[in-house]
Amino acid sequence: MHTTARVVVIGGGVVGVSTLYHLAKLGWTDVVLIERKELTSGSTWHAAGLLPLFNLSYSAGKLHQYSVDLYPQLEAETELNVGFSNVSNIRLANSKDRWDEYRYYAGVAKTIGVDVEFLTPAEVKEIWPLAETHDLIGAIRHPADGYIQPADLTQALAKGARQRGATIYRNTTVTGITQKVNGEWVVATDKGDITCEHVVSATGSFARQTGAMVGLDIPVVPVEHQYIVTEQHPLIMERKKQGLPEMGVLRESDASWYMREEAGGLLLGPYEVGAPACYLDSPAANSEYELFPDALERLEPYILSAIARVPAFGEVGVKKVYNGAIAYTPDGSPIVGPAWDKKNFWLNEGHSFGITAAGGAGWQLANWIVEGEPSIDMMGVDPRRFGDYAGEGYLVQKNEEAYAKVFTVHYPDEEREAARPLRQTPCYSRMKDLGAVFGSVFGWERPNWFAPQGYELTDADLDRADTILNHNHPTVDGEPIREKWSFRRSNYFEFVGQECRHVTEKVGIQDMSAFAKCLITGPGAEDWLNGLLSNVVPKKIGKLSLSYLLTKDGGVRAEFTVYKKGPQAYYLVSAGALERHDQDYLVKALPTDGSVRFERLTTSHGVLVLAGPRSRDVLAKLTRTDLSNAAFPWLTGQSISIGAAKVDALRVNFIGELGWEIHHPIEMQNYIFDKLMAAGAEFDIKPFGIRAMTLMALEKSYKLIPRELSTEYAAYESGLDRFISLKKPAFHGRDALLARKEAGLKWQFVTLEVFGVTDADARGSEPIYRDGALVGRATSGGYGWRTGKSLALAMVAPEHATVGTELEIVILGEAHKAVVIPESPFDPENNALRS
Ligand SMILES: Cc1cc2nc3c(=O)[nH]c(=O)nc-3n(C[C@H](O)[C@H](O)[C@H](O)COP(=O)(O)OP(=O)(O)OC[C@H]3O[C@@H](n4cnc5c(N)ncnc54)[C@H](O)[C@@H]3O)c2cc1C
Repeated sequence: MHTTARVVVIGGGVVGVSTLYHLAKLGWTDVVLIERKELTSGSTWHAAGLLPLFNLSYSAGKLHQYSVDLYPQLEAETELNVGFSNVSNIRLANSKDRWDEYRYYAGVAKTIGVDVEFLTPAEVKEIWPLAETHDLIGAIRHPADGYIQPADLTQALAKGARQRGATIYRNTTVTGITQKVNGEWVVATDKGDITCEHVVSATGSFARQTGAMVGLDIPVVPVEHQYIVTEQHPLIMERKKQGLPEMGVLRESDASWYMREEAGGLLLGPYEVGAPACYLDSPAANSEYELFPDALERLEPYILSAIARVPAFGEVGVKKVYNGAIAYTPDGSPIVGPAWDKKNFWLNEGHSFGITAAGGAGWQLANWIVEGEPSIDMMGVDPRRFGDYAGEGYLVQKNEEAYAKVFTVHYPDEEREAARPLRQTPCYSRMKDLGAVFGSVFGWERPNWFAPQGYELTDADLDRADTILNHNHPTVDGEPIREKWSFRRSNYFEFVGQECRHVTEKVGIQDMSAFAKCLITGPGAEDWLNGLLSNVVPKKIGKLSLSYLLTKDGGVRAEFTVYKKGPQAYYLVSAGALERHDQDYLVKALPTDGSVRFERLTTSHGVLVLAGPRSRDVLAKLTRTDLSNAAFPWLTGQSISIGAAKVDALRVNFIGELGWEIHHPIEMQNYIFDKLMAAGAEFDIKPFGIRAMTLMALEKSYKLIPRELSTEYAAYESGLDRFISLKKPAFHGRDALLARKEAGLKWQFVTLEVFGVTDADARGSEPIYRDGALVGRATSGGYGWRTGKSLALAMVAPEHATVGTELEIVILGEAHKAVVIPESPFDPENNALRS
């Protein structure tokens, strides 16, 4: 047995083996995989083998696409047949919203390069003659899609890895993992120890047990998943006799199940409400090839709907029911990338579509380990998108919900209801009393918008009869139903508009306490931050700057507002959803000599945003500090008193109006909130939410991670020139960024005015064309209430980025004229911000 290796991969399911294969393919051959039993003896052996390309997440979509391209090629390389049946995949639609979802998805697919076709009910009938199609609106079909034999696929990847020099130890269990002072890892097994540089955890249902070995609370809890295989059906056998093609994978999205032919019979897999989380104390040591007792009673409504769609399914007996564990995360996407707090410890866990994702996830993780970066934007699957709050109780509720919602319509404004309201800021109840309709980010409750007192949707508004999965009516905390999601403008559109107008004309207050905050101090702080971030760190106490942490390739990893609070003391603010992600990079980059200290302040400090032309008048009533432009200009901050409370007031905001972010000790929040509301009464102060903020930011062409800013786009492509200081001789990613510029940038950030919009604005991910050729993709979009324009932000090839260029954007299948306009259509001179 090896005693040393460059990488030890733990877990011999399809995901671990694919990671090993891709490491070896990149030339790292001193790599070892440890599997406690036989390869595939975890979840992999009993998977149905479907390879669904459909995915609204850019990262997951790219990973799936890579897998579907790779798998058919493995036979030529390894001489092992992976059992790939390219039978295509049809997803049915029988509701208007579903049809919109498909139209939206077709745009995403176009920009990723995935082939998708629209079918009429008659065309569905032609391919799937056993299906009833009279009630369908239509369907989409992925011709490249199909299914595979998961065990054969794993064996082929294993052979490919071994052929390149990798080693696999079966029947060997990892019993402990420790890190030495020099950073090396020691992986203890029941057959001896292996010292290595990197560890990859790909342990499926065992993820939490493996994580516990190094002190990580990994946000993975499996959920039970069942599929039913029937006896042979004479009609299918007859089709086979006639040499007709397989009917392909059928997905009844609106009733939450998939079906395909299996050995002359049918295979039905529902994603039902009520499937329980399992293996909370980890699987037992002898759990290999484990199946749970079937629970068909849970599946009854789904089986009935399957029989209604495919009567043949009800005409034959059940041959076998598979009920196995399927790993889940709170949002249903896997976690692929570096573990937080631990250097060179990598996670490839939480795969619920692991057969589909394994190829891509192995490819990108290997790239990340070997090259130091993934080659595509992995934010959608980054392990650090969840935080400390995601403990066992949270995971059980959220993962069961994620499982039950696999097939629900994924609306852009969707807010899920499980495990809420979990993280509440002190002013939560006050905001609620003012009509807040909350959303959730990183576990925090945040007002999305404010409904008038007593407002609620009626049964007629809700159209409850739409599908078996009608979950478009969230109710958190006993709240009345006040929003109905849509891909189009919905019931809250006008209310959000009123908030935008109010802030622009008068004054608004917003709770942004979810912002990630930290304090960097110490004698080395300034030099360290300057070496890390793209912009010059403020020299004068009280100055603010916006700065970026780039990847080593010059892409954008994180955005920070940097406020010099005192001598060698810098207060950094970044997006709430990215707290663990952003701060993990800072912590891992800290010098080891103790010259720089990091203190996390997110939960000890709240943020209230006061914005609008009357914000100065409100604040002036509560403080002695001179708030005039001369004494307190834009992009500066001061420690001030609001009544008896001491706060840091920063003159910045994300909406482009006069205003202050008031950063305060969290325990003083309600005191400050009440003071501001009382002082603001004479100016008609009103709260506003995230949705209004987002639309106002859009009108300022403000860029967001991971939309306009991403690890894939060079910072210059995203238009960050103003925030990159080439006066500094060195900062992380500088040389690569300049080299990319020298070689010629591939993309350019633009702001577009979209014409002819009546009820569906761009949302991001729509394809953009010029003269019929695809030239870019939208990254954000919406209606700008202050400018009266439907707007989109986009990345296009530079030759199409000149102001005035006429392009075409396809929104929900409809082409619209889109013209490149100057940045910041609202107040381009920043007069409001400087007023
Ligand atoms: C009924 C069912 C149907 C499914 N159908 C599909 C489908 O159609 N398409 C699809 O894409 N996905 C499907 N899935 C999901 C798919 O099975 C999983 O996503 C995939 O198998 C995950 O692979 P993995 O390598 O991450 O985990 P696993 O296959 O579970 O592998 C993890 C391995 O780690 C090993 N291990 C754990 N701890 C240790 C240790 N300490 N030391 C050594 N080894 C260790 C385990 O023994 C195990 O072999 C289905 C799942 C179920 C339950």
